[in-house]
Amino acid sequence: LVRLRQRLSRSQGSLGRGLLALLSRDRLDEDTWEDIEDVLLTADIGVKPTQELVEKLRTRLRVEGNDAGTPREVLREELINLVDPSMDRGLQVTGQDGKPGVVLVVGVNGAGKTTTVGKISRILVADERSVVLGAADTFRAAAVEQLATWGERVGVPVVKGPEGSDPASVAFEAVKQGVEQGTDVVLVDTAGRLQNKAGLMDELGKVKRVIEKQAPVTEVLLVLDATTGQNGMIQARVFSEIVNVTGIVLTKLDGSAKGGIVVAVQRELGVPVKLVGLGEGADDLAPFQPEAFVDALLG
Ligand code: GDP
Repeated sequence: LVRLRQRLSRSQGSLGRGLLALLSRDRLDEDTWEDIEDVLLTADIGVKPTQELVEKLRTRLRVEGNDAGTPREVLREELINLVDPSMDRGLQVTGQDGKPGVVLVVGVNGAGKTTTVGKISRILVADERSVVLGAADTFRAAAVEQLATWGERVGVPVVKGPEGSDPASVAFEAVKQGVEQGTDVVLVDTAGRLQNKAGLMDELGKVKRVIEKQAPVTEVLLVLDATTGQNGMIQARVFSEIVNVTGIVLTKLDGSAKGGIVVAVQRELGVPVKLVGLGEGADDLAPFQPEAFVDALLG
């Protein structure tokens, strides 16, 4: 929590501080509530959740008065509710019938997929699970090299094909190797050229089909860059139409004042944010914990 708070403090803390300052005014008049709405919208929480939150805060502070607690306590409770602490945020990495768990990682180029695959593999290895990485982002030679570097760093094998080879065949080989060697988890990195939706749909569909000839995909993680705001929301929508996303990884939260995107994207897709990226380093990936997140927001 301390590290999360440090990482978020520079950018995010201002959201919480801004809200608290507004809520602490002697009179919560219409202008103040509008200012509160502006702060929430600027943080990318989204229109509907903002309206809901403001309505809840108004009601509780008006009806319950001092019984509701301090403005900070009320805000904390309602922000946590908004992030929905009841969602299951565990990564589904355990396969069935002795087969590996298969995690497919999707998202647009530059969102942080390859980095996230590397970071997850490190966590799994630390948890004493065996891992194979599939470099199915064959479109960019740099992506394959980058994943290979992560593989060396973490000490896990990376299955790759020649540049420009069929992503599905690389994914197939990676899962095949995982099944044959009794590996615990296969992580498959993919390409994300969103400008060609039909092509991407074909490609990801095929990747998923060939994998599932060998083992079920246990988790489809959508990686989104938190700094991209509404653009990220559009990407999220497109990917959720293409594949059955089961969890979201929100990267670059360290450099974003837009922590509210957590709320917006969960609402949009109906699936939980499971992990957050807090930097470029190997250890800069954390499970998403609603309470710790809100506490970091409130500073
Ligand atoms: P991909 O194209 O989706 O595979 O994206 P990459 O994994 O290559 O990441 C793109 C850039 O974002 C790289 O420079 C990463 O180091 C950086 N990056 C990834 N995750 C994070 C994060 O959580 N925080 C920060 N600050 N940078 C990140």
